Amino acid sequence: MHNGAMQALYDGDLPYFRFTHFPEDGVQSHAVFTRHGGVSPAPFDSLNLSVSVPDSRDNVYANRARAYGIFGRDTGSVVHAHLVHGADVAQVTRADDGTWRAHFDGLITDEPGCALTMNYADCAPIFIYDPARRAIGLGHAGWQGAVRDLPGALVRAMQAAFGSRPADLLAAVGPSIGPCCYEVGEPVVGQVRARFSGAASLLHDNGGPRPHFDLPGANRQRLLDAGVRQIQMSGICTACRTDLFFSHRAEKGTTGRFGVIFMLS
Ligand SMILES: [Zn+2]
Repeated sequence: MHNGAMQALYDGDLPYFRFTHFPEDGVQSHAVFTRHGGVSPAPFDSLNLSVSVPDSRDNVYANRARAYGIFGRDTGSVVHAHLVHGADVAQVTRADDGTWRAHFDGLITDEPGCALTMNYADCAPIFIYDPARRAIGLGHAGWQGAVRDLPGALVRAMQAAFGSRPADLLAAVGPSIGPCCYEVGEPVVGQVRARFSGAASLLHDNGGPRPHFDLPGANRQRLLDAGVRQIQMSGICTACRTDLFFSHRAEKGTTGRFGVIFMLS
């Protein structure tokens, strides 16, 4: 599969995607894993990377060894985050390897060798690469993260910590639930109307009684508002593509979490 934004690759029998506008410059490496290539049984089949769902820890650790192993890493040599749908961002280093940063939905680093990971099932992965400052940021933004402006918080944290200039940044928004599938009610509608100046364009009338929220579009808007101009969108809806990704909504809460890794060489 190659939809322009993301290129499908394989490491042995493990499929993953990379964003095509992130240069293969030897500075950063990244992968968006799918649900395939792991050892977990249904409903976590098969590359579930999260211990927050009732899959066995042995399976999750075996899956992490397979996934992070494409870059020579394992669960103890990457930085994890305990996600809470907030907008707080932590700066991390290799001293954080194997640990879980609690209550952060954004991680940033400029330390060579540092690898950031997060897990998703409908919320959007946010990647930010600063080729000028050789720094990276990774985020997790569902509707709450979009409303609270996690993408903008990531950009501002990189400006403060590394002197990043928004015009230099390359951003990418990974697979998430799309406006095709994300019917919402309150409090989402009220929060989006209160917190987005362009709310009308983010709440789509699909002909039903309730609007559909454009989560990837909302995250893109937050990045634009923070001054980022180079943004690549995956164009993939997790709820449409449960053949490829886990979807909390489409699978009614009983599913796994796919993962991403973003690291500096
Ligand atoms: Zn969809």
